[in-house]
Amino acid sequence: MTRPALSRATVDRDAATRDDPAALEAAWKQARVLVVEDAHALVLDDDRPRLVLQDSAGAPDGERYYLGRDADGPVFAVAAPVGRRLGARRLGLRDVGALLDDRDAGLLTHAVGLTNWHATHRRCPRCGAPTEPVRGGSVRRCTDDGSEHFPRTDPAVIMLVHDGADRCVLGRQAVWPTGRFSTLAGFVEPGESAEQAVVREVAEETGIACWDVEYVDSQPWPFPASLMLGFRATCDPDARPVPADGELEEARWFTRDELRNAPVWGGSGAGVQLPSPVSIAWLLITGWVAGG
Ligand SMILES: [Zn+2]
Repeated sequence: MTRPALSRATVDRDAATRDDPAALEAAWKQARVLVVEDAHALVLDDDRPRLVLQDSAGAPDGERYYLGRDADGPVFAVAAPVGRRLGARRLGLRDVGALLDDRDAGLLTHAVGLTNWHATHRRCPRCGAPTEPVRGGSVRRCTDDGSEHFPRTDPAVIMLVHDGADRCVLGRQAVWPTGRFSTLAGFVEPGESAEQAVVREVAEETGIACWDVEYVDSQPWPFPASLMLGFRATCDPDARPVPADGELEEARWFTRDELRNAPVWGGSGAGVQLPSPVSIAWLLITGWVAGG
């Protein structure tokens, strides 16, 4: 089965090294470093897109986060300005997440999620004192009361709702250009299971009831900290989706034929456009269209 674009990581996160300061320092000396600035990194795309990884000796100053190791050795992320390199461009996951190879897609996704979290958790939620990264950047610790704070991930559900036959329901947000449609989605609320969130979100966004909620796949979506849990669900073929909670401007039925050759967002033509291949929405839609 095709993996979601951002769920292809190959690097071992090597949690044991995070807790061993000497091993961490030794790893840094041999490390390749991915510099991340505001969720972007330098990407060479002369041949195929690939991340610029530099030797730790020449890496810019900044907080260091251990990403793990593969056959070529350890890899760290450093939060710092990416600078310039001949032939390289400053790009983000939405630009190249689906084009990078498995290792690089995984590294950039991990690094972006981690740096997003560090950048927004500089203070202790208990006492307001500054926090500092510890354990290879897998934790921040309060410099006053010593409390430890872990990276946050927000679960969200995203679902392909179909009639059990040849039609599915997609929606369109008012801010999207005409023609762009995608699967329904929303955040899991406290005290709620993912399956319950699917049923609630579909009802809130379109007014229709669904059932037979079936898990498909998941992928991290660090914009800034989501984990997208992908589902399929069945609804009444006679249901009439109506935008209900103000989030969607339009929600309607599509047949497989209408979606089969539709271009992705940004494509040409006046017809329906599908979300980018970097999103799990694309995988849910194209997988269903293919009959899988
Ligand atoms: Zn504190």
